Amino acid sequence: MGSEGKELEKNKAVDRAEQVLYKTYNRFPVIFERGEGVHLYDSQGTEYLDFGAGIAVAGLGYNDPEYTRVLKEQAERLLHISNLFYNQPAIDAGEKLLKASGMEKVFFTNSGTEAVEGAIKIAKRCAFNRDGHGGHEIIAMRHSFHGRSLGALSVTGNDHYQEPFAPLLPGIKFADFNDLNSVKELINENTCAVLMETIQGEGGIYPASEEFLKGVRALCDDHDMLLMLDEIQCGMGRTGFMFAWQEYGVKPDVMTVAKALGNGVPVGAFLAQGKAACAMKPGDHGTTYGGNPFVCAAADTVLRLFEERKMTEHVRTVGAYLWEKLEGFAHSHDCVVGHRGKGLMQGLEFDRPVGDMVKKALLEQHLVLISAGTHVIRFVPPLVITKQDVDEMIEKLGETL
Ligand SMILES: *Cc1c(COP(=O)(O)O)cnc(C)c1O
Repeated sequence: MGSEGKELEKNKAVDRAEQVLYKTYNRFPVIFERGEGVHLYDSQGTEYLDFGAGIAVAGLGYNDPEYTRVLKEQAERLLHISNLFYNQPAIDAGEKLLKASGMEKVFFTNSGTEAVEGAIKIAKRCAFNRDGHGGHEIIAMRHSFHGRSLGALSVTGNDHYQEPFAPLLPGIKFADFNDLNSVKELINENTCAVLMETIQGEGGIYPASEEFLKGVRALCDDHDMLLMLDEIQCGMGRTGFMFAWQEYGVKPDVMTVAKALGNGVPVGAFLAQGKAACAMKPGDHGTTYGGNPFVCAAADTVLRLFEERKMTEHVRTVGAYLWEKLEGFAHSHDCVVGHRGKGLMQGLEFDRPVGDMVKKALLEQHLVLISAGTHVIRFVPPLVITKQDVDEMIEKLGETL
């Protein structure tokens, strides 16, 4: 088929998609068919440089031979078995996660949202165990993002997302991220937990300050509240540490992971230590798919390959290089008004909405970028990205502007 024929074919497929798919997204008119390393290929065979990793998911990049081999073998052996039985990949992946985090127990979920749901339930259950009654409160942060289910939405500090679905969970209060006093002021005898992202992702790439995170940890200790860190986006090596909180010298009582944990296979987890690790009892929580052998083989392989390939070291090196290049870019472009982040999770804030820029980069430069909020372009590439890829991205970004 000629290139015009393929264009026609694609447009037809896009029309069909709009007929069938519930429209909760404004999608770009590209159909991706294949990935290799840090590159994606669309239905016309055009190559794209990917700095989104499917929203911080494909840490190992696309079609990693070892990862793909394990998945093929596991698919032929056993995809699914219920949680009424044990499966070896879940044991292996669980042990590796606990070793990497120093947490005590893990529960595998199908998504980040469900991991957050689990964390909320732990907080409530823990306080119920202590006080013998419900009605406890959780402090979350403004401009946070924790997912779209009603529980996760309840702790997502975004009026625009929340308003049409009210009433949501009662007992959720919002503090200002990086403002310790605003947390302090919300604490009362019913407060059972503080939930936040270590680095706010969707909200525009805002890392917690060390003072804030340590301060919240101390408040949680003083008031018998759980510190619950959402590491769904910033965890799994993205900041140059396996989990972002490890750089701060604090440890959460509960943490959530997902996104890069499965490298594209839908798997998340919540992890807990101390009394949070045994707060829920048999019957309190469950899942049909969660932690099945297929997704756990994926997570186990991701964790193994991260270790074997010294992924966090690589991220620190390339992340520092990306920082240097984006700093240079910020200084030479007046429209850039901010540069934040850590490792391979960085954002450039512009003086205008970035939607058109993202679209232009994709369609004209074949560079996949994603936004975070309206004014920030977020750089969350596959973790295997090289300095050369960074140079190419910077060039394409310059061309786009
Ligand atoms: C993406 C994300 C979620 C939701 O994860 P899903 O897998 O989309 O359900 C929750 N918290 C944070 C910080 C995220 O980035």
